[in-house]
Amino acid sequence: MRKQIAAANWKMNLTLHQGEKLLKDITGAGLQLKPNHQAIFAVPFPYLIMAKNAVSKTANMEIAAQNCYSKKSGAYTGEVSAEMLQSINIEYCVVGHSERREYFNETNSILAEKVNLCLQNNITPIFCCGEPLEVREAGNQNQYVKVQLEESLYHLDKEQIQKIVIAYEPIWAIGTGKTATTAQAQEIHQYIRTVLADKYGRDCANEISILYGGSVKATNAKEIFEAEDVDGGLVGGASLVADDFIQIIQALKS
Ligand code: PEP
Repeated sequence: MRKQIAAANWKMNLTLHQGEKLLKDITGAGLQLKPNHQAIFAVPFPYLIMAKNAVSKTANMEIAAQNCYSKKSGAYTGEVSAEMLQSINIEYCVVGHSERREYFNETNSILAEKVNLCLQNNITPIFCCGEPLEVREAGNQNQYVKVQLEESLYHLDKEQIQKIVIAYEPIWAIGTGKTATTAQAQEIHQYIRTVLADKYGRDCANEISILYGGSVKATNAKEIFEAEDVDGGLVGGASLVADDFIQIIQALKS
């Protein structure tokens, strides 16, 4: 049974103290996550070890890095490698968030390198894809996302692709308060699963968690997560408020 995941993306927010308090409030809320449910916190690099320790006693809560570099190691001042993340037991890494694509010029081929390095280091990539507004308005979102998948993931074999979590995040919905409707989310999630099934087979595609991201809130999470092919969400703003993110975790479907 594929995992249902509520993934928090703190981005470049919160001090160490604020981050500790947020995790304390969430882990202390007495949530009993079902075996196929998972809460993941993508925190800034300096907080990874603190966050690992903070969730260590709570079942089904994990920590993710928000990024890693596309090279194995070497003279890349300021960068963090997948191997470094593995050395502190980080199990997930967000790869290809639209903010990284836009502000740091991360291309589909760079992201393919990052995906490879994560897998080589036993880290599950949370691979982000999604179209800008003009592509959606032209009705070309399916083709746009298909190319992102083809160019960053299609070199993987069947065993490797099953280790990927996909996050579909329409750029026009990220941080804008504008959420895709449940029907829009289901339509493109179903399309993504069909594309994966065409390449890797239906059984394989059915095992891959596909998260929705873009202004998910405590008030709309349940409705969006109910859609058949939506396996939870990647959440920015609302993940910074303990009560909101707790409700989002509770909105995961069985
Ligand atoms: C995100 O950062 O991936 C995101 C979806 O942000 P927000 O929930 O704030 O739209």
